[in-house]
Amino acid sequence: MSTPSAAPLILVAGGGAAGVAAALAAARLGCRALIVEPHPMLGGMGTAALVNNFCPAHHDEKRFIIGGIFGEIRRELIKRRALYETECMEPYEPEAYARLLAELLDSAGIERRQGRRITAARENGAHLAVTLDDGSTVMADGAVDATGDATLARLAGVATRLGRDSDGAVMPLTMCYRLTGIDLDAAAHGWPRHVDHRNGHTRPVYIDPNTGERNFYHTGHNAFVDAMLMADRAAGLLSIPRDHIAVIHGVPGCPGDATVNFGRVFVTDPTDPAQLARATAQGEAQVQDGLAFFRRRLPGFAQVRLVAMARQIGVRQSHQIVGQHRLTAEECLAATQFDDCIAQCHYPIDIHEPGSDKTTMNSLPAGAHYDIPWRSLVPAAGPARLLAAGRCISADAGAMASLRVQPSVMAIGEAAGVGAALAAQRGLRVQDLPASAVQERLRATGGILV
Ligand SMILES: Cc1cc2nc3c(=O)[nH]c(=O)nc-3n(C[C@H](O)[C@H](O)[C@H](O)COP(=O)(O)OP(=O)(O)OC[C@H]3O[C@@H](n4cnc5c(N)ncnc54)[C@H](O)[C@@H]3O)c2cc1C
Repeated sequence: MSTPSAAPLILVAGGGAAGVAAALAAARLGCRALIVEPHPMLGGMGTAALVNNFCPAHHDEKRFIIGGIFGEIRRELIKRRALYETECMEPYEPEAYARLLAELLDSAGIERRQGRRITAARENGAHLAVTLDDGSTVMADGAVDATGDATLARLAGVATRLGRDSDGAVMPLTMCYRLTGIDLDAAAHGWPRHVDHRNGHTRPVYIDPNTGERNFYHTGHNAFVDAMLMADRAAGLLSIPRDHIAVIHGVPGCPGDATVNFGRVFVTDPTDPAQLARATAQGEAQVQDGLAFFRRRLPGFAQVRLVAMARQIGVRQSHQIVGQHRLTAEECLAATQFDDCIAQCHYPIDIHEPGSDKTTMNSLPAGAHYDIPWRSLVPAAGPARLLAAGRCISADAGAMASLRVQPSVMAIGEAAGVGAALAAQRGLRVQDLPASAVQERLRATGGILV
């Protein structure tokens, strides 16, 4: 009696937004899937770095352009009253998000190796042999690098690039944090009223229609805040090299709490442990600096207290694979449509300038989006069973500064999981898998590719 051959095994390195979507997509196609993640919680930057919102990549101000697994997760968070539905950034409660990701992986039978990282990889016949830091080796029929740093790809010998073309510089890092004790009445009266052009909410305090909770929301330049910030910097009271506060937004279920994205720390390589340790210390000091500024200056913030710093400093940009196609900023801004589109994005090119206190934003018009091509996930040369997903795909610094946000990296991850599974099931090199096969599966499972 012959035993049925086991389903192909897909290894996903990294349990962030891209990695979770990749593992789910592979498992839902009938593969065995295994995810390796150093942190005890899933979500990557979206939880460990306290980046707890979805930037508006997923609609083009007229319609939704990302569905699939991202849409499923977003809808479930809304149902659980853990996400504020807006036309702009959508804050979510990070613990609820991490719990949902774990539930989804567990219900799909995906093995989670958390507290572990990958340390080596080599091609071995029909497999990619991936070694973990406990010394175990997994013989994978397919693999997805969702480490954000292209670590698996680099270990497996795939060529990578770091930073912008002119000088290799990367965007700065930020230590995000959560505070509590905002006096929402004082904030509502003390800040200038600002009506959001997209959804009509009066900022900075508005009521979330689904939960009825009052939510604090500030993002980007605001003359009132920026003037105080520059005055305090000039007086030597504030040392954060940033000309505005990027984000302060509420946390669903916890009115009066907010998470903050304000710091700015420069490094040349965010994967260098010594630089990362220095950056973390600097980021922690900036948290105290920022809190003091808030208490001193911001209406409604006089009594705020720190609840938590992120478990890790947030890294925006790191090593990326050299893929079959390098998506460019020009292609994004021209709303380029590719025949091998596997995901769409509307988010602006949002560059936190290296070595500067400035941020440059370049938006697409309402109703427009660009495509992310399958070829940007496929290494130009190297192993036959490895795909990249998330922020380490093949893109120049400008394109990367747009596609890096959570809705789009999740859509990319889903496509990578589908591609890795289909290639393994068909016994094909990823380079030989037709993009149309990935597109067909994505469309059949709620993906939006037009
Ligand atoms: C400060 C900051 C603010 C941001 N603000 C927003 C925002 O407001 N909204 C938004 O949508 N996006 C925002 N982003 C962007 C977004 O959070 C990230 O680009 C996105 O979450 C990246 O997802 P990912 O899955 O590609 O990578 P990550 O989330 O970085 O996940 C990679 C995972 O791989 C794991 N890993 C690393 N090395 C290994 C290894 N050797 N073995 C196994 N696993 C490994 C990591 O622990 C991590 O969990 C921000 C980013 C930063 C840094």
